[in-house]
Amino acid sequence: MVYLKTDEEVELLRKANLLVGKTLAELAKAIQPGVTTRQLDKIAESFIRDNGAIPTFKGFPNPYGGPFPASICTSVNEQVVHGIPNDNPLKEGDIVSIDCGTKLDGYCGDSCYTFAVGEISQEVQNLLDVTKQSLYLGIEQAVVGRRLGDISNTIQSHCEKNGYGVVREFVGHGIGKEMHEDPQVPNYGRRGNGILLKSGLCIAIEPMITMGAKEIYMQEDRWGIVTRDRKPAAHFEHSICVRKGKADILSSFEEIEKVLREKSL
Ligand code: MG
Ligand code: MG
Repeated sequence: MVYLKTDEEVELLRKANLLVGKTLAELAKAIQPGVTTRQLDKIAESFIRDNGAIPTFKGFPNPYGGPFPASICTSVNEQVVHGIPNDNPLKEGDIVSIDCGTKLDGYCGDSCYTFAVGEISQEVQNLLDVTKQSLYLGIEQAVVGRRLGDISNTIQSHCEKNGYGVVREFVGHGIGKEMHEDPQVPNYGRRGNGILLKSGLCIAIEPMITMGAKEIYMQEDRWGIVTRDRKPAAHFEHSICVRKGKADILSSFEEIEKVLREKSL
């Protein structure tokens, strides 16, 4: 069942999503060689709770095993998604995708950003750049009158044109009172296919893109998803609302990228 959101609901979704952006900006300040993903998780959980929200990932049920034990997913290098924070220090040249979800006043935020740890290779930087570009190209398609497949196909074409793999097993989703609502939003598909996009449809668009082959496997913890060829993967996600002419992006990378610019000075 696809629920279109009222304007009031969209504003509540925006508040939850902007809090995710602020949380990721707090983490951007802390990301450097030597920091552990468990330390980042502590910062995120405190920040989310201090702002009156709930970290929706914590305790999230898993059809394959136990509930998710942390407030953020931290996926390092060849991990694609759903990495559990741990005590391994991040190293210079690593990348870490941090996916974060909040529930504020009954509505969900969900957004992800892939960060460089110190200096990374040009090859890996290109993967991050193309993945983020594909997200924004997909968002350009999220307008009234287009179809879901137009978003999917645009993301897939841009990433494959650049020689990258598009993960099939995990997809974007509707977002509202629940973090995962209908419809599914794949990062691959055919132009002109899928549901017609209507004003008020709120979805999380989240390309999960690999430097090599698209095949993945699940780690023994039953959460972490890793590329089979162990090449790095990137993941960027925005929650958006379909509108006429131009989608309304409810999450934001602005504060994250302000921190990153300040750090690079
Ligand atoms: Mg997410
Ligand atoms: Mg999501």
